Order: sequence, then C-alpha cells, then structure tokens
Amino acid sequence: MKPPFSQALKRGLRFRCPNCGEGRVFSSFFKMRDECPVCGLSFYPESGYYAGAMYLDYALSAAIFLAVFVPSLFLPELTHLSYVQKNVLWIVFGAVLCLGFSRPSYSLWLAIDYWLSPWKPQSPQESGETLEVPLVSMVIRTDKEGPRHGTPRGPES
Ligand SMILES: [Zn+2]
Repeated sequence: MKPPFSQALKRGLRFRCPNCGEGRVFSSFFKMRDECPVCGLSFYPESGYYAGAMYLDYALSAAIFLAVFVPSLFLPELTHLSYVQKNVLWIVFGAVLCLGFSRPSYSLWLAIDYWLSPWKPQSPQESGETLEVPLVSMVIRTDKEGPRHGTPRGPES
C-alpha cells in the first residue's frame, strides 16, 4: 500500500511532487507552487503548514555550522583576519547555510509529511462532477462505502 520511504526521500530531494513524482514543487528558486502542475495535489494543505520546514532548515543549518565551527576552535590560526572579520565570515557562512537548506527543507517536509499521511489531489473534473450530478455521486459513494456515507455534498458543507 504505502510507497517506500526511500521513494518519498528521493522525490523530496529532487524537488518533485510527493504524489506523482513528476510535477515540480518550485516555480522559481524560492517560490513554491500552490499545487502540482501534473496531478493537482495541493502543496498547501493548511495554513502555517511550512513552519516545521523552517525548523528543519534551522536544524540542518545549525548541525553543519557546529560541525565546522567547533573543530575550528581547536585548530591553529590559519589566517590573519581580525576578530570582527572572522565573526562576519561566520555570520555569512550561517546565512548561506540557511538559504541553501531552505529549498530542500521545504521539499523534504512536504515529501515526509505526505508519506506519513497522504491527501488526495483535488482534480477539477472530480469536484465538477460532484456539483453537477450530486444524486449519481451519492449512489456511487453509497455502493462503494466511501468515506462520505451517502451524503450528496462533501463533509465541509
Ligand atoms: Zn503531482
């Protein structure tokens, strides 16, 4: 049933839709699409959805930063930079890490969350059918024992 976690990771790292693996998650370097251009999966299932991605970005950046910064304290001085110059370089290094990890963090957050609890793409054809022929969809849903249990409209309305 559930696709392997490695597939979710691979799609996340390739910035592809977690559902179909084809549609691109980003429309430009820092701009995410609202939904998949191929299968229509929403990339914003709820508001504030990507707060966790920011934590992920921070955690990855902090881990790499500390992995470089802490060993550097035990190394002999290699440069003749002043204290201020070194601090500026570390700040720039931290900012570059945060920016560099932002895209993978957002994409991975989407991929892992979708793998844990997938949601359905909202295709325009499907919602149109429900609106135009509610009785037919009611009969179909009742026969298939779908999640709506015979109600002609969705659970939201
Ligand atoms: Zn897709």
